[in-house]
Amino acid sequence: MADRQARVVVVGGGFGGLFTALEVAGAAEVTMISAEDHFTFAPMLYEYLSGEVEAWHIAPHYRELLDERVRFLHGAVSEIDFDAREISIAGRVRRVGYDVLVLALGGVTNFWGVEGAEQFALPFRKVRHADDLRRRMTDALDRIPPDAAPQDARSAATFAVVGAGASGVELSTKMADLLRDAFQRRGLHGEPRVIVVEQGQQVVPGMDEEMRAVVENALHHARVEVHTATRVVRLTSDGFVFEHNGEQTDVRAAGVVWTAGVRVNPLVERLALEKDKRGLVVVEPTLQAQGRAGVFALGDMAAATDIVPTLAGTAQLAFQQSSLLGKNVRALLAGEPLKTKKFVELGEALSLGTEDAAVLAGGQVVSGALARQARYALYTGRLPTWQHRLKVGASWFFGGKAPRPLGLQ
Ligand SMILES: Cc1cc2nc3c(=O)[nH]c(=O)nc-3n(C[C@H](O)[C@H](O)[C@H](O)COP(=O)(O)OP(=O)(O)OC[C@H]3O[C@@H](n4cnc5c(N)ncnc54)[C@H](O)[C@@H]3O)c2cc1C
Repeated sequence: MADRQARVVVVGGGFGGLFTALEVAGAAEVTMISAEDHFTFAPMLYEYLSGEVEAWHIAPHYRELLDERVRFLHGAVSEIDFDAREISIAGRVRRVGYDVLVLALGGVTNFWGVEGAEQFALPFRKVRHADDLRRRMTDALDRIPPDAAPQDARSAATFAVVGAGASGVELSTKMADLLRDAFQRRGLHGEPRVIVVEQGQQVVPGMDEEMRAVVENALHHARVEVHTATRVVRLTSDGFVFEHNGEQTDVRAAGVVWTAGVRVNPLVERLALEKDKRGLVVVEPTLQAQGRAGVFALGDMAAATDIVPTLAGTAQLAFQQSSLLGKNVRALLAGEPLKTKKFVELGEALSLGTEDAAVLAGGQVVSGALARQARYALYTGRLPTWQHRLKVGASWFFGGKAPRPLGLQ
């Protein structure tokens, strides 16, 4: 390593990977490898669905974000040989060597083996998933004849969201507002139907009580049909079956979106690293993989110890870890001692339909239009690079734009 610059390779370009690459840029020969060519600010995927923000705001191309200090390789990593310190990328013959490796592969939708879910449910983690869902909603509306009876229009515009965690709640309220707006614009009779199914006893499990009350009110206001203590047991091409108190109900639906869980990225399963029982990579408080000093892991794929449980699997955590990890990579390269850090909760900010939001910060819950603005301001500050923040901040002017009606591009 003495005669040449150390090679730091970051795998994954999400909250963990991209922010780490930006932190270590210039300290070594840095390469970032990602299966996609753009970052995704997932907390605002709901606003992208509704057209309140554009793809360039929340999913900028890496070439907009990285300068010449970070080499970007677009491709899916297929294998990592930790002994040879080499990475294989699908479709590329040449392997990529590293001295220090940072793993930030994130997770994938967990369908929990529910019959038909993998085949028929729509995941909601990426820009293309939001595009698919928007198209599905528009197609369903387009199939409704203008003179359809209210019950027929409602049946044709029935959508379900599985899981009433933050994601399911944000998504279902947004979908309900968008569909209702489309009914009005198209002069359709009746109302659309949006159902959210949650197997726990309450919506937003684990969240503050005051925040839950705001969420319940927003679901009611958006006329989302909430089924708690209910399990989805089967999906088919035209609907799903749910079970409550041992009784099963069949529902015809134009689309079922799955937000009920995340599991570890399949590549992580194949990596020869120490894992916990959920399959997450066990890391030291320095974020080094156990037993591998030159390998770091963070974000959704890492089993962080000693954190507030609600921080697990969040962008907030990956974002904070990237700053520690960047410092530790620099320290490792300089032969200095590595540091640890206490990660803190940075607050909650939920989008609740196209006009409402709720923000929990410093123990205080704020809702309504003010919270919507606060959420935009907060998230503008969390976007990668100051140049991008500036561009987006100027364009949003802290409030985004009006939703784009379904059917308009
Ligand atoms: C819809 C939605 C809303 C969310 N809202 C919030 C929120 O409001 N607040 C919050 O704190 N968290 C939120 N989260 C969670 C948050 O997005 C994740 O916790 C965070 O993205 C984790 O960061 P990560 O770097 O571990 O993974 P990711 O950000 O998922 O990044 C993984 C990266 O790895 C790449 N990759 C995957 N496989 C390969 C491969 N084989 N080869 C190369 N690259 C690969 C991917 O392309 C991606 O770039 C939300 C998530 C979703 C889906």
